[in-house]
Formats: sequence, C-alpha cells, structure tokens
Amino acid sequence: MTGRPAESFETIPVAPAEQVEGGARETSVPAPGGQRRYDLDRAQLSDILAGEPSFRVAQVWDALYRRGADSGECTDLPLGLRDRLAAHPSLAPSLVKLAELEADGEEPGGDRRGAPDGQRTGAEGTVKWVFGLEDGPSVETVLMGYHDRSTVCVSSQAGCAMGCTFCATGQAGFSRQLTRGEIVEQVVVAARAARERGMRRLGNVVFMGMGEPLANYRSVSAAITSLTADVGLSARRITVSTVGVVPGIERMAAEGRPVGLALSLHAANDALRSELVPQNRRYGLAKLSEACSAWTRRTGRRLSLEWACMKGVNDSSRDMAELAGFARPLGAHVNLIPLNSTPGWRCEATPAGTVEELADQLRRSGVNATVRRNRGRSIAAACGQLAATSQPRRRPVPTMMETALTGGRGS
Ligand code: SAH
Ligand code: SF4
Repeated sequence: MTGRPAESFETIPVAPAEQVEGGARETSVPAPGGQRRYDLDRAQLSDILAGEPSFRVAQVWDALYRRGADSGECTDLPLGLRDRLAAHPSLAPSLVKLAELEADGEEPGGDRRGAPDGQRTGAEGTVKWVFGLEDGPSVETVLMGYHDRSTVCVSSQAGCAMGCTFCATGQAGFSRQLTRGEIVEQVVVAARAARERGMRRLGNVVFMGMGEPLANYRSVSAAITSLTADVGLSARRITVSTVGVVPGIERMAAEGRPVGLALSLHAANDALRSELVPQNRRYGLAKLSEACSAWTRRTGRRLSLEWACMKGVNDSSRDMAELAGFARPLGAHVNLIPLNSTPGWRCEATPAGTVEELADQLRRSGVNATVRRNRGRSIAAACGQLAATSQPRRRPVPTMMETALTGGRGS
C-alpha cells in the first residue's frame, strides 16, 4: 500500500439532505495538484472569466460538461479568449490518457438481451482507458456500448483499501481518493468517446471500477450532483456499488437520492464473507441487511446483490439457499457473475452451465436472479480485473480460504 490511508468514514460530517440536494455544492476531497477543470464550481469559472460578458460562463460550462470540449475546440469563443482559457492551469484536464484498449462488440456468451439477431450493431463495443493522475497513480475507466444503451464504469479511488481476496484492485492496495473532478472527467471523456464512435448516448454510470465509492463518500456524492446537474444524467441511471460500508449505506438512505445501490455480497454467511471480503469483519451481515432495508424503504428502489460465482467456494445449493435467505426479505435482485480470473488469487470461475442452474434455484425460491457476463475480459476490463500496472503490487497474503483451495478443491 502506498500514500495516505483511506478516508475514515467516521471523519466525514453527515450533511443534512437539503444541503446535498439544493444549496451549496458539496466539497470533494482536495485535488493534490491543485484544482482542475471539473473540480471548479461556476463561481470559480466566473472569476476566471472576469471581464467577459456573463453569458460566457454558461457557454464554457456547457462546452466542458455537455460536449467534453477543450477550450481550443470552442470555436464559438473569440480566439483570444480561447488562448487565455487554454493556458489557465485550473482549466487543464486532470486525467492523462496512458492507454486506450478496445474490444469489438460483445464477447461470446455476453449479455445481448433484446439485441437484434445476427450482425452486431456498430453501437456495441468495449473501450478501456488507463488514466494517469498528476501525482503518479493511475485509474481505469470502461465504456460499454450495447445495442440500446451505453454505460460507463468509473473508478472512485486509485486502488482500494478493502483487500477483497479475489479482486485485482484489492490485491494492488490503495493509493488515494479521487476528487469530484477526476470522477466527473471519466464520465465526460467516455460520453464524448461514445458519441465519436457512433455508440448510443451515454446514459448510465456505474461505480464499479477501481475503489470503494462509499469510502470516498464526499467526492462520490459531489460527483453525482455534478453528473445530474451539469452533465444532465438521471440519478436513477447512476449506480453505486459497495462492498458493504454500512455508514455509507445509512447515509445514502438518509439522503434518499434515487441513485441505485448494488451490494457486492458474494457470501451470505459471516464466516465465508469475512474470508472473501475483510470489511465484513467490521460490518457483518445483520448490520448490512438493516442498512440496506433502510435504504430500500427510503428510496423505494430495488437493491441489487452482486455474487461472483467461485468454483467450490460459494456455488453450492446451500450457498444459494443462504443467498435467497438474505435477498428475499430485502426484495433484492441478484446478479450472478462468473468470477474473472485475477493474478493474485487461484480460484476458478463456476462453469457457465452451473451458474445458470444456480440462477434457476434462486428463481424457484422466489428470488429475481439474472446471470451477468462481464464485458471486456480480453482487454482486462471486466469486473475485478482493473489494476493499473503502475501501482505497486502488494504480495497477496494467502488466506484460510486460499490455503483450502490450493490444498484440495481449487486449481
Ligand atoms: N468496491 C466496490 C465497487 C468496485 S468492484 C464493490 O466492491 O462493490 C466492482 C464489482 O466487481 C464488485 O461487485 C466486485 O465484487 C466485483 N469483483 C471484484 N473482483 C471480481 C472478480 N475477480 N470477478 C468478478 N467480479 C469481481
Ligand atoms: Fe475494493 Fe470492490 Fe475490489 Fe473489494 S471488490 S477490493 S471493495 S474494488
């Protein structure tokens, strides 16, 4: 692990809901290299544009957020102003594109529900970016184009401190929190790329990239405000995925924003979950269920439960019975995802046919379940595969679970 420790949730003051919805903008964590393009608020942009007619603020703001344009591309601005803006350090982007990888359309067996048969459409494809941050670490962002929609999967932290055994990001450790601007910029870059590639308009954002969004609540919350107010996305199409940071879920419940919530469950008994997801030792399943229930009641939205199917670990009928027992009272939807292989953990994915049978078992026990195949495995862009190579690799410590796997049932 490098750099500062992850922000402790308890140190974040809880803002009353009205402050989050209306009033002043929430502050994100400070930008290490100084404020950049998407960290600024309108007042700060007005200061930069002092002496210009007031309509210029809206013009530049829209160019930044709606078009993802650089000031040099704003041909509706006078040339002198364009040059002045291009030279202003606070209007520089925060993300440097280190790599851009593309995979065609959906992969065999991929999720093409409702897609036309035969030829894939030009709207389908996966793009992964590795973005360098000014102070060294890097993060990854994935754009997924489907026949009917485009979705971006964004990172909320550089690395992650939660240490889930099966996840490449967790294996690499934590570098630092992202700022509001660094999160928003990932979305704006992806929205522009979707337009330029002839994909569907980017309408969905999932916080399923690197990092634990609820351990960076301030920036994530501020980014969501900006994505709805400035980029024009619907809060209902933004989903926060969490490993189960209970105070964060409680705060989402208290604020009551209609943002979606996905809980990465993977095990529905405390002993196994604490092995796979160390955060479970802090907030066990009982507290988690209570917090999720409060969120569901307050928002009226359906919770999603994510379950990466790991051969011989969490894919027995008994595991499904436990999962059903957790999901049913919450009225939650279950997404089963075959595990994606990661370098630091020797465990295989449950075979596809078995995953389908597990989904059937869940349905028979009254739980709404779907099988999700991950996009972009060939470019290491699928769930849990994100781990920027410039980050120091922490030597994975074998857990009891791993020892059991390598000693017998596992690979
Ligand atoms: N930290 C958050 C969001 C980022 S992880 C969370 O854990 O929810 C995004 C999703 O990828 C989570 O559901 C996580 O459990 C899943 N994931 C991590 N490693 C995986 C792997 N190797 N195979 C499949 N899914 C994985
Ligand atoms: Fe962090 Fe999520 Fe990976 Fe766990 S699964 S280590 S919480 S990114």
